[in-house]
Amino acid sequence: MRLITALLAATFSSIAVAAPPGPTPALPSPADGYFQRITRVGDGVWLIAQPQPFHVQPIGNVVVVEQRDGLVLIDSGGSPGAGRRIVELIGTVSRKPVKAVALSHWHGDHVLGLSAIAQRWPKLEVIATATTAGHLADRSMRAYPKGAPDTALQAAFDKRLDGLDGFLRETLAKPDLAKRDLVAAERQGFEASQRLLHQYRIDTRGLYVVLPTRTFADRLFLDDPQRPVELLHPGRGNTDGDLVAWLPKQRAMATGDLVVAPIPFGFNAYPSDWQRSLQALRQRHPVLWLPGHGAAMHDDRYLQQVTDLIAASRTAVAAQVAKGVSREKIAIDLSQQRQQFCGDDAWLQRWFDRYWTQPFADAVYREDTGQAIEQGEG
Ligand SMILES: [Zn+2]
Repeated sequence: MRLITALLAATFSSIAVAAPPGPTPALPSPADGYFQRITRVGDGVWLIAQPQPFHVQPIGNVVVVEQRDGLVLIDSGGSPGAGRRIVELIGTVSRKPVKAVALSHWHGDHVLGLSAIAQRWPKLEVIATATTAGHLADRSMRAYPKGAPDTALQAAFDKRLDGLDGFLRETLAKPDLAKRDLVAAERQGFEASQRLLHQYRIDTRGLYVVLPTRTFADRLFLDDPQRPVELLHPGRGNTDGDLVAWLPKQRAMATGDLVVAPIPFGFNAYPSDWQRSLQALRQRHPVLWLPGHGAAMHDDRYLQQVTDLIAASRTAVAAQVAKGVSREKIAIDLSQQRQQFCGDDAWLQRWFDRYWTQPFADAVYREDTGQAIEQGEG
């Protein structure tokens, strides 16, 4: 997810000016499940993921694949600090160097840890689809430093975090913004978000984008006797340049944010392409799914749930478009699906509406009315 922009767009419209600074919140506690852990998910394959997968500003998963002459990573974490933790975690499972990092898409929570990883292994290759490389070099990531930190761009980035900080404090102080009081789960969620934002500020100091050194359009094969990795662009979906990694011998599929648990992210997505792309992944019959956020999955039940959600969302919007409802007035009822994804967790339910229902309905509306879907800025 493009977090900060997406979060602000989803939540921030009613607050014009950030609240004055308050006391500095604590850092995340172990109970917040914020700091990544590494888990062996197969022989020579590991998943680095946050124990608690949903955060308003999450850290994308990293898949580590040990090949004969070095490690291949899918994604890099969401900040230099997250990248430093990834370097440490990798050191606990292998002595081989990281030789390549393949970026699943351009969103900051998947690419901004790369600077720290590349500092540790300067010879590594950075692989992405040509479309994603374009977003990283200019289009979507133009507000981020390239190749080295930049004081002015860092200051602008930090200012956006001030906005997020203000939003969190305002919401906790004046919950009537949502026309009702926060329930306990929401209050705890916002308080945990303040702690993670404090950590994120520390983690993003000195951030910069590392640009790809190798790009491809449809397919790139990284051969190996035991663990070959096939990098694929299955079509558009979560973004227009999505990359997935298929491990044919392990029958494992690393999906990037085409699959995100516990709730998917629907910003600036390509609805019908997304359905086709998921179908293309399932045709390989993976026995292990490694999502962009959330734990490893050993069957395709969640894939089916996401596929059904996309279909239901498209049907609901299409019915309104057919009646001539304008874009601003589009409102779809996904309460049944929200229950399926979130159960009774009011915190998750809140973000299901903001990270899926609203942005994805907008994407479907655009697709159905022939308007371009732009990736926006990270
Ligand atoms: Zn993500």
